[in-house]
Amino acid sequence: MEELFLNRSPGSIVSSPCTQGFLVAVVGAPLDHTSTYRPGCRFGPARIREAYNNIEAYSLRRGIDVDEYCLEDLGDIAIVPGDLEESLRRIEVVSSSVFARGGVLGLLGGEHLITLPAVKALSASSTPCLVVFDAHLDLREEYLGLRLSHASVTRRISELIGPERVMIIGVRAVSREELEYAGSRRIAFITSNQARILGVREVSRRIRRFLSECKSTYISVDMDVFDPAYAPGVGNPEAEGMEPWSVLDMVSVIIDERLRGFDIVEVSPPYDVGGITSILASKVLLEILASIHSIHGGKH
Ligand code: MN
Ligand code: MN
Repeated sequence: MEELFLNRSPGSIVSSPCTQGFLVAVVGAPLDHTSTYRPGCRFGPARIREAYNNIEAYSLRRGIDVDEYCLEDLGDIAIVPGDLEESLRRIEVVSSSVFARGGVLGLLGGEHLITLPAVKALSASSTPCLVVFDAHLDLREEYLGLRLSHASVTRRISELIGPERVMIIGVRAVSREELEYAGSRRIAFITSNQARILGVREVSRRIRRFLSECKSTYISVDMDVFDPAYAPGVGNPEAEGMEPWSVLDMVSVIIDERLRGFDIVEVSPPYDVGGITSILASKVLLEILASIHSIHGGKH
C-alpha cells in the first residue's frame, strides 16, 4: 500500500519505465569545476528536469508525444568537488556503460567540459562527428593555465576525433588564437550572424552535408548559443545570439539514426530569470527526444 504514496526519486524525469532495455538514457553531470564567470551549473540538471516535468511532451515538429515512449533517467553522476580528473573519469565510465548497452546518451550539464569524457567514451567504439551549438569556439589551448576547461573543451575533442569531424554553430565570441586554430585546422563554424542571414534551411543543409560521411554523431548544445534575452542563466552570456526556434528547428532536422549521444550544458540556475533558461533547455531536450523516437519508431 505504501508504494502508492511514495515517489522514490522525486527529482527524476517523469516517464514510462522501460521494461526491456532502453533507447535513451538521461544522465545528470553536475560538473561545475572550471566555471569562471557565473558558476552555478551544478544546479542545472535538477532545474532542467523540473522544467521538463512541467512542459507538454507533445512535439508539433515531429508529431510525437514523447511521454508515450519510455525513458531511462539514470540520475546524477556523483561528481567529486576538487577532483576534476576523477569527476571526468566517472562521466566517461557512465557514458561507456550507456553506449555498451546500445543506448543513446543524453547528458544534462553541468559545464561544457562534460562533453569531453562522453565523446571519449563514444570514440572507443566508433569515432563520432561532433556538432556543437555554442556562442564560443572553446578552442583555446588552455584557459587560465588549465588545458581541461570549459573554454578549451572543443579543442581537446578536436585533438581526439580530428578537427575535420567538428562543426560549431552560433559562434560570436572568439579570441584571435581560437580563430587561427580553427582556420589552420579547417574547423567548420557558422557564426550567429551568418546563421541569421543564411536561414534555418541553409544552415541545416550545411550541417547535414558536414555529417554526410560520419558513421556516428554527437550533438552538444551549450545554452549560451541562445541570445541572453532567451537564456540569461548561463555561465558566459554573449549578446547577439540565436533565437530558440532557429536552434530547435536545426536540432530537430539534423538528427538521424546515427545519433549516439547529446548534451545540454552551461545552464546556471542562480543567474536565471524566472527559470526561462531551464525551461528552454527542457524544450531542447524534448525536441531531441522527439526526433530520436520518430526515427527509431516503435514504442519501447
Ligand atoms: Mn561552450
Ligand atoms: Mn559557450
